[in-house]
Amino acid sequence: MRVNNYVLNNHINWTKDLANDPYFRLVFPQPDMLQEPEHVESLINLAKSKVSAAGKAVHVEKLREKLDLNAHPAGQLTENVPMMDGKPVEGVQHKYQATMLIFPSEGQYCHSYCTYCFRWQQFTNVGSQQQFKSDQANDFLNYIKSHKHIKDLLFTGGDPMTMSAEVLGNYLDPILKDPECSHVQTVRIGTKSLAYWPRRFTTDADAKPMLDLFRRVDKSGRNLSIQAHFSHPVELDTPEVAEAIKNIKKTGAVIRTQAPLIKGINDSAATWAEMWNKQTRMGLIPYYMFVERDTGARKFFEVPLARALEIHHEAISECPGTARTLRGPSMSAGPGKIQVLGISSFLGEKVFVLKFLQARNPHWCAPDKLFYAKFDPGAVWLDDLTPAFGEKRWFFEDEYDEMKTRTDGSSGQRLFTS
Ligand SMILES: *Cc1c(COP(=O)(O)O)cnc(C)c1O
Ligand code: SF4
Repeated sequence: MRVNNYVLNNHINWTKDLANDPYFRLVFPQPDMLQEPEHVESLINLAKSKVSAAGKAVHVEKLREKLDLNAHPAGQLTENVPMMDGKPVEGVQHKYQATMLIFPSEGQYCHSYCTYCFRWQQFTNVGSQQQFKSDQANDFLNYIKSHKHIKDLLFTGGDPMTMSAEVLGNYLDPILKDPECSHVQTVRIGTKSLAYWPRRFTTDADAKPMLDLFRRVDKSGRNLSIQAHFSHPVELDTPEVAEAIKNIKKTGAVIRTQAPLIKGINDSAATWAEMWNKQTRMGLIPYYMFVERDTGARKFFEVPLARALEIHHEAISECPGTARTLRGPSMSAGPGKIQVLGISSFLGEKVFVLKFLQARNPHWCAPDKLFYAKFDPGAVWLDDLTPAFGEKRWFFEDEYDEMKTRTDGSSGQRLFTS
């Protein structure tokens, strides 16, 4: 875990029912995340014991294995890393044709840590082969130059805003200056700094250099899109975040918002309605509502898809069209981002209606590729669903299987050759 004074002083309500305070649960790991009381007990005993730090680490790692935390969901390690000249491009993921992700090695932590984070493996030192990162000398620039259908370049982590403006500039400025990168139209930065440390854009010594870097993106004739992770409306209430948003917008950047729907933290329609309306008032654009991923302490945090649909509907009903830019609830699953569109009945069979928002093969998003799963009120993820109408497999399954079993280094990749 990790938490800072800004979060402790502003976001947690210390005066009432702390154990049920959403923000307390967002940053302080809860005993039930360990699934069984005996796991909690074994850790308490271990902490009290005289076992060396190294010995404790071994025990903790064994417990992690037992909990089956699925560190790299949706094939992110095996299926998303592109190959160039027969080698993997370090620190890059390229799953959807128009958007390339980059994980700078210096940005692999956050200002505080969310208990539900699916990137937790990035922050622990165990098994460095599980870490995923790029460094400034790597091949990502050549990869961008030779893949002209990349339109969005998304810096992610961890949180890229933990890097200095100088370090981020070392990644970004070469792209902005290179005429062979003119196909990149949007630079995105995925960050929770507006919620966890808005001083990054106000009083920090490095605030001005960072805002200057944002201006350089605008000057290069591109748009900068801050993909801001906001989990709860309290994050929007401080004078610091209001000022940070104003400063960012003055650079020409836009701010889009996204978050997962998490039990005990934001699983109510009122919370999302308040969040989307406040964001819209502040000039932020609601973008994605995600379903909790199948990783980490998922049993503790998961919300059934049917409930997610209800929350989404009730919340969006309280919003004007200007806030209905939001898409979701969406599962970031192996084959793609799958939106749960709704519930319907055909010839007496109750079904979930599903649609790809993004897919490994762009054709899976086609208008005739809506697909249907048997309705199941307890289902929380794609794996829990079965095709409706007696179908044996999902329409995309054979092709996805074929992608995964390729041994020529193009596993999971489609149509990305030039
Ligand atoms: C969500 C996601 C993206 C971005 O998708 P957009 O729909 O362009 O916002 C890109 N790559 C991966 C692997 C993702 O999960
Ligand atoms: S801010 Fe994002 S990457 Fe960082 S801990 Fe939270 S969910 Fe994980």
